Formats: sequence, structure tokens, C-alpha cells
Amino acid sequence: MIVVIGSINMDLVLGVPRMPMPGETISGGPFATIAGGKGANQAVACARLAAGRVPVAMIGCVGDDGFGDTLRAALQDEGIDDSHVSTIAATATGVASILVDAAGQNSIVLAAGANALLSPAHIDAARELIAAASIVVLQLEVPLATVSHAIALARSLGKTVLLNPAPARSLPAELLAQVDYLVPNEIEAAMLLGASAQGGAVAAAQAGQLLALGCRQVLVTLGAEGVYAADAAGGRYYPARQVKAIDSTAAGDTFIGGLVAALATGAALEEAIALGQRAAAISVTRRGAQTSIPYLHELDAA
Ligand code: ATP
Repeated sequence: MIVVIGSINMDLVLGVPRMPMPGETISGGPFATIAGGKGANQAVACARLAAGRVPVAMIGCVGDDGFGDTLRAALQDEGIDDSHVSTIAATATGVASILVDAAGQNSIVLAAGANALLSPAHIDAARELIAAASIVVLQLEVPLATVSHAIALARSLGKTVLLNPAPARSLPAELLAQVDYLVPNEIEAAMLLGASAQGGAVAAAQAGQLLALGCRQVLVTLGAEGVYAADAAGGRYYPARQVKAIDSTAAGDTFIGGLVAALATGAALEEAIALGQRAAAISVTRRGAQTSIPYLHELDAA
């Protein structure tokens, strides 16, 4: 089983001709509500790309509002076990309010809502689920104390741990030392190392420094440039497929879903990276978060 621990958000996406000024009201549209949140996106990507060969479960929190009900139903529709998705009373579900202007630029405000209440106690309550996992996947849109607790529990149960350290922030070295697969983008990698983002050319050096902190395998994602993957034995670039990208939302989440789905079905790392990249290349040709994540059969068709 794949267990994903993380955020569950509703994305409120509104097209605008230009970004409004402070105090200004402008007309916009179209408007859409799209299921998102890095945790839920990665769980959905795992489910679509594992295609029933490995079960997927999610641990997270939603509020007791309509968005929470809709997002839970969306997970269930993908066949994801939501028995450890908690509904928190008198709390709003996490939302991302996203304005997209005519040039395709985003302005995003995140309100964590129920995601901020995912606690170590929720993780302990899901101990049996985690014990049944082969791989546990985490990001940083829920409290760091909960992420640390979950990683320690997963490790004590002998599980493989994948951490996507997003959104970018610094992390304690003790935490990184417990991670089997660390999957940052180039900005997140730089942030972990206390450096400024420098792009693909330094990914090898960044990966080397992150490995020295104790991660077993580092995969730095580089957008249209692909991925640099390294372990103690060395590293190499995996170039991305060339596609006409229109919206990179959830590209990283889709890559991770494909990578994890393949690893959980016993694929070698190179094969798993290839699956993640094929899926992510399709996702950037579509708009939105979970709306852009392909199913395994679509990769075969492409
Ligand atoms: P996001 O935050 O937008 O979800 P990210 O910054 O976490 O994305 P990226 O490094 O942008 O992650 O992308 C992840 C992977 O998706 C890349 O390693 C690559 O394989 C694929 N990808 C991203 N952008 C493109 C693109 N324009 N063309 C082809 N593949 C892409």
C-alpha cells in the first residue's frame, strides 16, 4: 500500500484580465473550483498511475463544510482509502485562492484551514494503516511537528519514506537523515541548503550536499529540464519530454505520483523516474491541479 500524508485543499481559480490594485474591484472569469492540495494531488496521482495494482490511502484533515465533503468524495471516486481523513468540526477546509491573469501569471493566497490541525495524534491513530504501507509519502503543507512524527513512526516500522519538501523551507538535518527519497524542486533544494536558487547546472552539487545530510536518494526536479537523480553511487540527469506546456500546476505532484506508483509495484528507479516524467509531461499540457493528472492508460495512448 501507498500511504500519502498531507494537505487537502479546494483551489478557487479565477481568471482576471489583470491583477486588481489594492482597494479596486474588477470583473473576472471564468471561475472554477478544482480539487487540490499537494497531499491530495499526490494521492490522486498515485491512484491514477498505480491503476489498481497497489492500494492508496490518505491521511489528512478537511473542515465540516461543503468543500470538505466534495474533496472527500473526490478521493473516494479515485478509490483512495479515506478512513484516516478526519473531518474537523467548526473548521474551514483548506483553500487556495488563485488569480490567473491574461498572461498566465498566478497570484495565490493559501488558507491552511483544517490542514493546520493534522496532528501527531492523527498519525498515531493511523498506525495500523502506516504499518500496512510499503512507502509513505509526505510534503510540508501540514505542521512540521506532524511530518517529523510521521517520518519517525514510518521509519520505526521499517517503511520507505519519500519527502517532497514543498513549500520551500529549511528543515532540521535530523529529519532529512531519515528520508529515503528526497524530491525537491530546484528552489526547495536551495532552501534546504540555505542557498539561493541557481537552476539546473548546480543540481548535481545540490544533490551531493543533500546526500551528505543523510538522505538515501535525492531527485531534484528541474521543470522543463527534467530531473537530476543521485545516490551514494553517483547521479545523472533525466531530460524531460518536450511538450507545449500551458499550466505547470501539479507537475511535481504528478511526477511524484508516477514515481511512487512505479516503485510500489516493484519497478527499478530508472523506470519509475521515466513513468513520473511521462505523466508530468502530460499534466503540464492541461489546466488545474487534479484535473491535469493523467491515468495510466493515457500514458500508453501517448
Ligand atoms: P509544481 O510546483 O508546478 O507542481 P514543481 O516545481 O514541484 O512543480 P517541476 O520541477 O516544475 O516541479 O516539475 C516536475 C517534473 O515535471 C519535471 O521534473 C519534469 O519531468 C516535468 N515537467 C515540468 N515542467 C515540464 C515541461 N514544461 N515540459 C515537460 N515536462 C515538465
